[in-house]
Amino acid sequence: MKKIPMRSCVMCREKVEKRELLRIIRNTDGKIEFDPTGKKNGRGVYLCRKDNCIQSVKNRQKISNSLEISPTQEEMDDVFEKITNFLQRESLKREGK
Ligand SMILES: [Zn+2]
Repeated sequence: MKKIPMRSCVMCREKVEKRELLRIIRNTDGKIEFDPTGKKNGRGVYLCRKDNCIQSVKNRQKISNSLEISPTQEEMDDVFEKITNFLQRESLKREGK
């Protein structure tokens, strides 16, 4: 049987299937970035899709500690916006629109 890769959410620490998680990375420029493909190079953290955890992105402390960077509030807001856009598009796709 094939083992399903699991990762912990950086916020709630719950273990979730890797492909269900959202990935945020420190890219090669040392900047924070949302990685919708989950395949980009860089140190990454995973985020589950619970509302609470996604909202917590705006509070940059946790992610910046894990990634060892200090992004500006603008950068965090940008990541947050990309994540919410991504989730929105995905739910539209699921509804077949
Ligand atoms: Zn979570």
